[in-house]
Amino acid sequence: MSDNCLFCKIASGKIPSKKVYEDEDFFAFHDINPAAPVHLLLIPKRHIVSLQDIQSDDASWLGKMLALVPQLAADNGCRPGPEGGFRVVANNGTDGGQEVAHLHFHIIGGARPWDKRAAPAA
Ligand code: AMP
Ligand code: ZN
Repeated sequence: MSDNCLFCKIASGKIPSKKVYEDEDFFAFHDINPAAPVHLLLIPKRHIVSLQDIQSDDASWLGKMLALVPQLAADNGCRPGPEGGFRVVANNGTDGGQEVAHLHFHIIGGARPWDKRAAPAA
């Protein structure tokens, strides 16, 4: 828990969110400014800023976090199978476009086509 972190406050319930999932280690909720019909954010409850702070001994919980992604996508309206699917985005650091400094996976689905170029702003 970091005192000034928006997503720590959301995970602890101090700031309200539209929660879709919670367990001992993780919390997921609807993005407040959705980019598609399905746009969830999945976060670890522990305060980790980004993937740049991950060490090899984080592999276990990080693997669990990744394994939650398809379950949350399916439970929240992303069509299953090769014709359905979803995107997973993790922005890391300023050059990576990260605005909230607590690790999160965007789970985005329900719309096509995608612009996959992801060109950074000049
Ligand atoms: P990023 O730019 O990858 O750091 O993504 C931060 C995301 O958090 C953006 O998509 C915002 O719309 C979302 N966001 C910011 N504040 C809130 C909030 N209070 N509840 C839900 N989502 C939020
Ligand atoms: Zn935090």
